[in-house]
Amino acid sequence: MESRQLPDLAPAGDTLLRILNDIGDCTRCRLHEGRNKLVFGVGDEHAPLVFVGEGPGADEDAQGIPFIGKAGQLLTQMIENTAKKEGIDLLRKDVYICNVVKCRPPGNRTPEPDELEICGQFLYRQLMTIRPKAICALGGTAAKAVTGQKEGVTKLRGRWFKWRDIPVMVTYHPSYLLRPYNQEAKREAWEDLKKVLHFVYD
Ligand code: URA
Repeated sequence: MESRQLPDLAPAGDTLLRILNDIGDCTRCRLHEGRNKLVFGVGDEHAPLVFVGEGPGADEDAQGIPFIGKAGQLLTQMIENTAKKEGIDLLRKDVYICNVVKCRPPGNRTPEPDELEICGQFLYRQLMTIRPKAICALGGTAAKAVTGQKEGVTKLRGRWFKWRDIPVMVTYHPSYLLRPYNQEAKREAWEDLKKVLHFVYD
């Protein structure tokens, strides 16, 4: 497993509520300019599994909840259907879901390096607070942010990395899987998810 070394930037006794309060009505980067709602994260503060996406889309920006649009519905199905097939009692509400950037990039563009850097401090604190048993990075942007690896998601998927001492599985972003010609990628994502679910819940 390859590991990323980061300095310890989280205050002692941090909580998700404290992080949310510290983010406040954030204007630290340009993404706040087009924001309707900041999208912090959803799920169980004590979840043993955290999914990390790239950044909110239009539906998420409107509602303030990560992964509730089309890609989010696919993610929910992937989690719940894979768990069920594998005999694992797990619903979406039992995991924690968040993004690297908390505000929607205009036109759903990829977040810029400075935006990832600025917002990354809050992802860092979320992960430090939750301390899950594993992290699943969805897509290239999340994979790069969490693992520090520079290769594309096709090279990274299905492999274990580490965020500090926590195992990270990289897989495809559900938006990519929604494209009609990506049947093989869907199968691969399902394999990746099986790996991570068995690691966490067996
Ligand atoms: N894509 C993401 O990366 N995150 C979301 O919350 C929704 C779509």
